[in-house]
Order: sequence, then structure tokens, then C-alpha cells
Amino acid sequence: MTTIVNATLYDFVTYREHRYVRFDGVIREVGPMSEYRPDGGETVDLRGGWLMPGLVLGHTHVYSAFARGMGVPFSPKSFQDLLDQLWWKLDQNLDIPAVRASGAAMALDYLQNGVTTILDHHASGAVAGSLQALREAIVDGAGMRAACCFETSDRFDVSACVSENLAFAKAAVPGRSAALFGLHASMSLSDDTLALVSEAKDDLPVHVHAAESAEDEDLSMKRYGCRVIERFDRFGLLEPGSLYVHCVHCDDAELALLKARGVTVAVNPSSNMNNGVGLPDVKKMLDLGIPVILGDDGLSASAAVEIRNLRLAMNHRYGGPTVFTMEDQRKVVLETYRFASALLKVGLGRIEPGYAADLAALDYAAPTPVTETNAFGHFVFGLSQSFRPRHVYANGVAAITDYVPAARLVGPAAQSVASAAAVWNRVAREGKKR
Ligand SMILES: [Zn+2]
Repeated sequence: MTTIVNATLYDFVTYREHRYVRFDGVIREVGPMSEYRPDGGETVDLRGGWLMPGLVLGHTHVYSAFARGMGVPFSPKSFQDLLDQLWWKLDQNLDIPAVRASGAAMALDYLQNGVTTILDHHASGAVAGSLQALREAIVDGAGMRAACCFETSDRFDVSACVSENLAFAKAAVPGRSAALFGLHASMSLSDDTLALVSEAKDDLPVHVHAAESAEDEDLSMKRYGCRVIERFDRFGLLEPGSLYVHCVHCDDAELALLKARGVTVAVNPSSNMNNGVGLPDVKKMLDLGIPVILGDDGLSASAAVEIRNLRLAMNHRYGGPTVFTMEDQRKVVLETYRFASALLKVGLGRIEPGYAADLAALDYAAPTPVTETNAFGHFVFGLSQSFRPRHVYANGVAAITDYVPAARLVGPAAQSVASAAAVWNRVAREGKKR
């Protein structure tokens, strides 16, 4: 049992000072320091530092690890060019060792950013066994929690994608790993594929990009005579528990359909700005009662950065700082925990007995008074600007101690530079062949 003492607790709901928290894999006791009694176990003194629940990324791509610094001829004129010229060149050259190495590298990055749970959307040239390789790196190796899926599309052998998604779902370990059924996007999925998936996926809800670019909607109208969300609905793929990512270009009828079917939307404003595709109408989604969660789309590895950028992006989108309220923003954070908790079958996001001991401890000397009412403001405009926790625990096990990552994380992550170089060489050789 480990006990953290002299902590300031903030879990996006309550703010409490001078507390202790005792845990193994699960939080067992939380109380005021006046009631603290040593139990002979390990004690960590935060000296007033903040203790928060480990953060969750509601949509990410571990495979994007190797895109950092990759040089390819790049002059996209459309969203499809962006996929053709960068992402699809990269992912098709990932074999199982590369999947494992990128998983280890990203796990280290996530944990250093206080992220302990991810909802990953995976693609690689190697299909069979790729999700297991990811899980071995991220969950078994690094101790994080992860929901994984393989992004089925017409680029791949569809039946291999179906098998990989189903096999991973069967092997899920409640509390630690979970599955959704992965689909890439409307623009890369034929009607035949959607019909096959709809039949084969059992009751697994889908995790799919939708209406990320205007092109996705335009192509759907041109090829199928309907908009993206309606198209997925025709195949029975809008279900409670399913995760539709981006929804930047959804019109009112599509948003109404998402609401009616109980679908959750994952927004990724940093990625949207990076790709220049526009920004989702998160305010309207929330007002309609659509559950909205937050991801990084593989861009930052930091949920804190994404929470901050959601604020900046929405203020920009609505032409002022008050349309998208702090309460709207907090609602997205809480929903991200709620969705991940339900999917993984574990209590995430609160510092209370019975919740998972996924924790991030931070040095934060607030320059102004902190109360429960303004603590979220301190997070968004203070802590999130450089969110590098001093200590991180995943499932009660120390991953980062005094800013130093555990050796079991550093060793495997060190493989990633050589592995990325090998992948880049394969991409370059293919480029020359063309
Ligand atoms: Zn994505």
C-alpha cells in the first residue's frame, strides 16, 4: 500500500487541501491530514502539491509516433492527399516490431504527460496480431489502460481487419483493456464493406472518423446520395456506446441523428487546426445533449494540452470567450472519464475510495487563491500550460517518480528511434520505386 500525504486534491469535481490518499491498485482511503496514521507502507510527501486523477485521451493514434520528423514529399491539396502522402505511407510500413516499439515510445510519452488511459484507433501494414502487440506494449508493459481497435477500410484485407477487431475484443481484460470495432472513415469504406462489418461485428460498438473534412461529406453525397452520418445509420452502425470522431462538418440533421441514437462524439480541436479542416460545433452538440469527449488524434500525447486547446479553439470558433463556457468544457472532461470508465469497466477520474489508483502529482504554486469554484480555471489557464507531473501512478504502480520514468518504460521506448529509422527507410524505398 502506498500513501500520498500533504496533497491538494483536484479531480474536476471536488477541491480539497491537506489530504492523504492511500492506495494499491485501487484508492482505499482518502482523508484529512489530521486523520492520517502511518501504516508502515511507502509514503510520498507532496508538500501541498496537487494530486489529480490520471488523464484520459478519448481518441488517439499510437501509430502516429513515427510521423514525428518524418520527411516525405508533401504538398497536399486535399484531405485525401494528406492521407496518401503521409499517413497511409507510414502506417502500411509498420510491422509488428514497429507497432510494439511505437507503443512503448508513446506509453512513455503519455505517462510523462499524466495520461494513464487511451482510446486508440490503430492501423498498420501488419493486421493480424497488431492489437495484441499494442496491448503488450501499453497495458502489459507500461501498465496503462487502453481500448484498442483496428481501423478497417478498403485499403486493407477487410476480413483480416474484422478478425483482428473481434479477436482483440475476445481477449479484453476488464479494467485494463477493451475493444471497439474500428472503421477508418466513410470515404475509405464501400457499401459492401459496411454491410459486411454490420453483419460481422456482433454487438461491438464502432470507433470511426466521421465528417472530419468537408471532402468526407462531399464524397458521401456524390457516391451514395446521403450525408456521412445518415450513411452509417443505413447500416445500423449508430449505436449507444459507439464513438464518432471529429463530426466537424455534421449538419443539424446529422447531429439530431447522433443524439437520437445515443452516439458519443470525440472532438480533437488541435488536430483539426493542424489539418486546417475547420472546428466542430461543440456548443451545439452539448446543447443537444450529445455526449462529447476529447482526444488528441495522435498529435500531442497530452490530454492537458488538449483541454487547454479546446478552450482556445472554441473561443476562436465562436468569436468570443463566453459562448463555450467553462462548465461546457468541464462537462467534456467529465464525459471523457465517464465514457472510458464504462468501456473499460473501471472507475476512472475521481479521487475517492473504490476508484482506480491512476494518479498524477504536480508541483503547482497557485499565484492566486484557489477554491472549488475556480480550480478548473487554475487547471486550464495555469497547470495545463506545462503539465509535467512529478509522480505518476498507473493502476497503483509508480510509472514516474520525481520526474524520472521507471526503467521498465525507458528500456522498451529506447527501441523506437532505430525502429522508426527502419520504417522511414522502407517508406523512402517505396517512394523511389514509384
Ligand atoms: Zn483519428
